[in-house]
Amino acid sequence: MSRTFDTLNPATSEPIGTFAIFGEDEVNDTVARAHEAAAWWSALSWKERQVRLLAWKSYLIRYIGRLAELVHEETGKPLADAQLEILLAIVHIDWAARQARKVLGPRKVRSGIVAINQAATVEYQPLGVVGVIGPWNYPVFTPMGSIAYALAAGNAVVFKPSEFTPAVGGALVSSFAEAVPDYPVLQLVTGLGETGSFLARSAVNKIAFTGSAATARKVMAACAENLTPMVAECGGKDALIVSADANLDAAADAAVWGALSNAGQTCIGVERIYVAQDIYHTFLAKLAERVSALRPGDDREADYGPMTMPGQIEVIEQHIADAIASGGRAVVGGLGSIRRPYVGPVILADVPESSTAVTDETFGPTMTVTAVADLAEGVRLANAGRYGLGGTIFARNKKAAMQAARALRCGMTSINSVISYASVPALPFGGSGDSGFGRIHGADGLREFARAKSITRQRMKPLVNLTSFSRTDEDMKKILSLATILHGKRYK
Ligand code: NAD
Repeated sequence: MSRTFDTLNPATSEPIGTFAIFGEDEVNDTVARAHEAAAWWSALSWKERQVRLLAWKSYLIRYIGRLAELVHEETGKPLADAQLEILLAIVHIDWAARQARKVLGPRKVRSGIVAINQAATVEYQPLGVVGVIGPWNYPVFTPMGSIAYALAAGNAVVFKPSEFTPAVGGALVSSFAEAVPDYPVLQLVTGLGETGSFLARSAVNKIAFTGSAATARKVMAACAENLTPMVAECGGKDALIVSADANLDAAADAAVWGALSNAGQTCIGVERIYVAQDIYHTFLAKLAERVSALRPGDDREADYGPMTMPGQIEVIEQHIADAIASGGRAVVGGLGSIRRPYVGPVILADVPESSTAVTDETFGPTMTVTAVADLAEGVRLANAGRYGLGGTIFARNKKAAMQAARALRCGMTSINSVISYASVPALPFGGSGDSGFGRIHGADGLREFARAKSITRQRMKPLVNLTSFSRTDEDMKKILSLATILHGKRYK
């Protein structure tokens, strides 16, 4: 491994570390070791795996200070945000560890009248080795949604963190080795995109990818070569919709945090805000007042940090420029808010729905605010995009809020708060359309990393043996009469 790459602190441009670029052979060797580790890990009992995962969780919380510092250095986000991200990750490790047996362990199912002589069982077995390819924006929380659930399901994991956050990835892997020193059940491969593509082409049994839709397409093509299944957690363009009866202060507070925290570099961040016409001006004023009080920086008082990935600043610049050129107006900030590596908060109002500021993921501290007739129109506009990750509804009327939440074509929706679903470990997380497919978190997230295994055991001789050449016409007649009784009823 002669090739290396460096990471820089995005706020100061100071080097943080030098990391190996894993080539194809190194990736394949790592995956081969992971298969050996998987054989050991999967043979442990549920309880034995649970104890080890809980020990890892406990290690992470005891040393949260160190890991948070590393997240702060590599991403530039404020220390408290880094701590929050780690806390959420810990909640997920805990849930996955405690629930794995209940969700995945053997369970009897009813065999039905036709197969009444059979005992039927379903269980979910580990896949083997899961390759996790992660992004940089939440370098602990996001990959953990795959890592913890894949491990709890009995798999070994090979983790390829983003090239912007390899030190955080390394710290996660070495912390796991503290709790599980026996075998390399969780391993690290560092490198650029090419290393990720070697992982996707290797002998892994599944790829859990989190990143942009454009990269997901490439990863999927690589996975197709070996028919390796994949879960894709991609970007979003999430909308927050404010009904005329909403608590406007609460809605403005949530909208500002949803749009600006982590400098807007959040897959489920608020990028579009649709506001009922009747309260539009009042709401916009509340939003502007709150946003004007916030600023980016690297000091302790800063509300959010620098842009982690310098290249993203061009996308933000283009979106602001397009919004204004197409008839929108900047209510707070504008192109002048871009002061590399920082971007000050930007509110764009009355931007046409065709602008890239509305159609494409900006991934910056900006938001568009648009007046709509009511919740239904907000939902219609929110659903018009090609993404479908998360969403938020602010409304006092419970029934109307639930109806709008159901109608949003996305994987998760919060009512009267923002992003709350991510902190409920029992809730599945994932999107549709360009936001990807498959689910992490919750029972669905555990099953994503397991294969269903169905077993029948004949407990008595059948009345009529249908699966035998000794079957007679008389047998067939009997079974058809029974089927007519069971299923032949007329339905109106
Ligand atoms: P990215 O797509 O540039 O990179 C993601 C990962 O893929 C990195 O580790 C990268 O090295 C790797 N990669 C790049 N090319 C590859 C290839 N050809 N084959 C295999 N791997 C390859 O994304 P990013 O900039 O790191 O992350 C930002 C994106 O991630 C945003 O779109 C954001 O919305 C999304 N995201 C989604 C979620 C979610 O849960 N849905 C969470 C966080 C971030």
